[in-house]
Amino acid sequence: CGIVGAIRSENNNVVDFLTDGLKRLEYRGYDSSGIAVLMNDKIKRVRRVGRVANMEDAAKEKGVFGQLGIGHTRWATHGGVTEPNAHPHISGGKIAVVHNGIIENFETERARLQALGYTFESQTDTEVISHSVRHEYDQNGGDLFAAVQAACKRFHGAYAIAVIAQDNAQNMVVARMGCPLLVALGENETFIASDVSAVISFTRKISYLEDGDIALLNAHGFVQLVDKSGKQVERVIKNSELSL
Ligand code: GLU
Repeated sequence: CGIVGAIRSENNNVVDFLTDGLKRLEYRGYDSSGIAVLMNDKIKRVRRVGRVANMEDAAKEKGVFGQLGIGHTRWATHGGVTEPNAHPHISGGKIAVVHNGIIENFETERARLQALGYTFESQTDTEVISHSVRHEYDQNGGDLFAAVQAACKRFHGAYAIAVIAQDNAQNMVVARMGCPLLVALGENETFIASDVSAVISFTRKISYLEDGDIALLNAHGFVQLVDKSGKQVERVIKNSELSL
């Protein structure tokens, strides 16, 4: 029901931002939560049913640490409230995705991906995103931005998604269609969130994405941003005056 993500530099851990941000998104509704962080070139995932604090304790226990990560509070729409259905969803250890919203045509997509040999580990609509992005990623030789653009063309429904790849420590790709999503620009660190309350204690420089936008980000902000027609665009960066 809410997503967050961060790319930081100079050994700044993202886990504190992810858990703090998810707690601030809990008001949107939640039944479970999770994070995926790139740690020593592997995607480390922690998921728990219940409050974000449960997941935070588990992340501490496991010593999860890294400069690139994504997080999710779930409000289940497809698939029960279980740990395997909690996000992030990961395909083949390579591509991790968090998703707010509903992929309406997930059954058709799941059948297509199963026929291609992908194995599903959850009952969610979301899992078609991780496998679909991985499929495109493997086809195009590892261009995450192109992979998310190609995958999004297949999805009908509403989504705000954030995607990371195991072999790309520098970048995150985000996409928005019908669900809120913003990019927040810090000093050598970039954050994304469903809601400004998740980022405001880190930076006030906010850029709201529009429906159909897909962005490639690094620790310095936007690398590329395309709109729904695939055209390169820029979005204004505002100084938020919200107080917590
Ligand atoms: N449809 C997805 C699920 O049920 C995401 C729900 C949400 O926005 O939290 O897992």
